[in-house]
Amino acid sequence: MLKLKDPTLFRTENYINGEWKSTDHDQIEVINPSTGDAIAKVSDGKKADAALAVGFAAKAFRNWSRMPAKERANLLRKWYELILENAEDLGRLMTLEQGKPLAEAIGEIKYGAGFIEFYAEECKRVMGDIIPTIAADRRLMTYKQAIGVVGCITPWNFPNAMITRKAAPALAAGCTVVIKPDPGTPLSALALCELAERAGIPAGVLNVVAGSDSQGIGEVLTQHKDVAKFTFTGSTAVGKILMAQCATTVKKVSLELGGNAPFIVFDDADIDEAVTHCVATKFRNCGQTCVCTNRVYVQNTIAANFTAKLKTAITAMKVADGFEDGAVIGPLINRQAVEKMDTLLADALSKGAAIVIGGERHELGGCFYQPTLLTNITDDMLLANEEIFGPIAAVQTFATEEEVVNKANDTEFGLAAYFFTRDVGRVMRISENLEYGIVCSNSGVFSTEVAPFGGWKQSGIGSEGGKEGIADFYETKFHSMGGINV
Ligand code: NAP
Repeated sequence: MLKLKDPTLFRTENYINGEWKSTDHDQIEVINPSTGDAIAKVSDGKKADAALAVGFAAKAFRNWSRMPAKERANLLRKWYELILENAEDLGRLMTLEQGKPLAEAIGEIKYGAGFIEFYAEECKRVMGDIIPTIAADRRLMTYKQAIGVVGCITPWNFPNAMITRKAAPALAAGCTVVIKPDPGTPLSALALCELAERAGIPAGVLNVVAGSDSQGIGEVLTQHKDVAKFTFTGSTAVGKILMAQCATTVKKVSLELGGNAPFIVFDDADIDEAVTHCVATKFRNCGQTCVCTNRVYVQNTIAANFTAKLKTAITAMKVADGFEDGAVIGPLINRQAVEKMDTLLADALSKGAAIVIGGERHELGGCFYQPTLLTNITDDMLLANEEIFGPIAAVQTFATEEEVVNKANDTEFGLAAYFFTRDVGRVMRISENLEYGIVCSNSGVFSTEVAPFGGWKQSGIGSEGGKEGIADFYETKFHSMGGINV
């Protein structure tokens, strides 16, 4: 199953200061969620390893930040090319440890690499200002300087792209990084380090400490005096804890947190298009993305037609091991995720939901769950209020535009929202009225390195991607130059 063209990408040690460090103490057992088999033992980095990595990153920062942007860009470009050359192997590693279908995993590798390409270009265009002076003997200017060492914590659902979305702009800006990947998916992170080393990125610039002591490593990355900025992708609950920890040293913080995306279909929409995109946004990565459709709202006049078509589309999806040809839905990440589906479903059924299709654990067993379609959803159900993070589509109906916009906004989350209508005026109105960082009309596809991705409300702080995604890795310096004889 894991036939890598280049087996040396299978790294199991931590990567600190350009060296592979194996720990003689504990190891993390990495599990294939599809089979439940142990696939690797990875060195279980500790709090002390994180502190060591921060020390080396601080040392490396001096030279890396002073390197001309063009030279840093050339190294990043080389890293990008190596990732693309090895996309299939990296995809295989990801399917093995995360479970997503191979085609989807390779898609993530290419998407993730796009951030490295983009920021290698972008860092050459970050400018300061010359400000019109207020006195004849003074000159006023601002310039941008890399902020310093960046601590990063990333989740398991995008084991590659959530790393490159942070590391690429940070490194491009001249920062050095220490990354704690999720202990469930460390292989993808470590393979990225192997390729960075081959690209010539200097020792100490990129460090990965994979460890099961999330709290201990997290304390170092949020509280160490030599970490200037902290960036996290994960749940809102954990984001709040880490943000509070950052307050002790007043670090700059970026947070990419949870979502509760509405998917709204008006009666003038192209229903077939809406169904296709609903399936794509709901079931990608087995429903385990922060921007997955969570609440489907369909105008009541077309609800029966839409639901029937959605049922047909869901039935056509192949549930299988991610390495199997044609697999569309892989396993959930672990047993707790399966239990969460059971809980959400039982709660919804007890409050009046109806099962159109699915509604049970899949016959493949383990972490596989049937793609499920529910109707008669009401606002008091758990799955209308929290992230489902699994393959359950929950359909509600609505009567008016005002009603559905109010419902869509009635959540503490504000990451992504989707809507389908052919009315141009309504497209603009809804786009302006939805309280979300990302709105997507007549499509479910939006992720790209060239545009900002970030949440409003409790879905986060800051943006990744686009010109916004590099801004947070710089400090602005104002230089007031006096003593100029005129
Ligand atoms: P999570 O429980 O918040 O964990 C995320 C990462 O934080 C994991 O590596 C975890 O390690 C670590 N962690 C947990 N508690 C910690 C602590 N006290 N100190 C330091 N690190 C800690 O989230 P998840 O369930 O893995 O990931 C799914 C969540 O991520 C969803 O809410 C999803 O919406 C969100 N997400 C958001 C975006 C975005 O761009 N907005 C993108 C992807 C995912 P352990 O597993 O070892 O605890």
